[in-house]
Amino acid sequence: MADISNDFAWSWSRHKIFYDCARKLYWQYYGSWGGWDEEAPEDAALAYRLKQLKSVSMLVGQTLHEVVRDRLRMRPAAGGAVPAQQIRDEVERRVLKRMRESRNRDWERYHDPKRYAILFEDYYGSGIDERQRDEALELVRDCTAGLASNIYARRAFGVAKERLRMVDPDDFDAMRIVVDGIVVYACPDLVVADDAGDLHVVDWKTGRPEKANVAQLAMYGLYVTERTGVPLERIVAHVVYVRYGEVEKHGNLRESVEEARRRISTFTTDVRDRLTDVENNVAGDIDKFPMTENLMLCRRCQFQELCGRRQAEPIAPAEDEAESA
Ligand code: SF4
Repeated sequence: MADISNDFAWSWSRHKIFYDCARKLYWQYYGSWGGWDEEAPEDAALAYRLKQLKSVSMLVGQTLHEVVRDRLRMRPAAGGAVPAQQIRDEVERRVLKRMRESRNRDWERYHDPKRYAILFEDYYGSGIDERQRDEALELVRDCTAGLASNIYARRAFGVAKERLRMVDPDDFDAMRIVVDGIVVYACPDLVVADDAGDLHVVDWKTGRPEKANVAQLAMYGLYVTERTGVPLERIVAHVVYVRYGEVEKHGNLRESVEEARRRISTFTTDVRDRLTDVENNVAGDIDKFPMTENLMLCRRCQFQELCGRRQAEPIAPAEDEAESA
């Protein structure tokens, strides 16, 4: 761990965090750096712990992604039906295990907040009651039923396996591309080739349908182009809301690339202006990352303890607030 470096990078989640609350970006990517070390300063250790918090709906979304990814990687070459029951059983098993870990505060007992789940509802709220547990299992059930009938999932499990060009890269090096000299993290869930060789990027969502961010999709397109050599004009992005059976489709990704580049450039200037050592990506002055004035954001933020903004009625963050990179 001692040799890893904290590289400056853009991702859609970093962008959103920064323009919601600069202090949150600070805790997430700077103030928590090194917090895993036993000798870490108190604030860094706490920030590192709080960074690991996730809500139950984030846990379900993340677990479903992991299980679908694993199932796609191990599926037979010839293809078959969506193994919905196996996916459901596995997601339920892992979610219930994580809930137990969090309730028992295993992260505290074993001094490992990264390995053992800390659920927002346990940490800031009064714990997960039976109704919340049932709702989580209902979400798992609805999402897996949605996958079983979803045309994209059926294709992903049904087509010849060589058509699956990418399945959810899961290490940082595999997620990274460089755009205008800046490291960008993009992590499409799935890339499938059609009969004509055009590529379809699929992004599974377990939350409610909302307008997809085209800058993020454009980065998926650039990422896929760089990794496969297929031009952007032959790549289509699909955001699939598995629980609700809705799909948002985006061709013409090139049109969105310029918008994405502008965002990356603005973010880079705005964040680097606040760093005390740009070359080494060090933020040595916390005051340059001010706290938001919107206390509603603090209610659903995992860093509220560090900011002294612990809320009487915290709101568990939604699935789409999960950080990917
Ligand atoms: S608690 Fe509020 S001020 Fe602090 S990081 Fe979170 S959103 Fe920002």
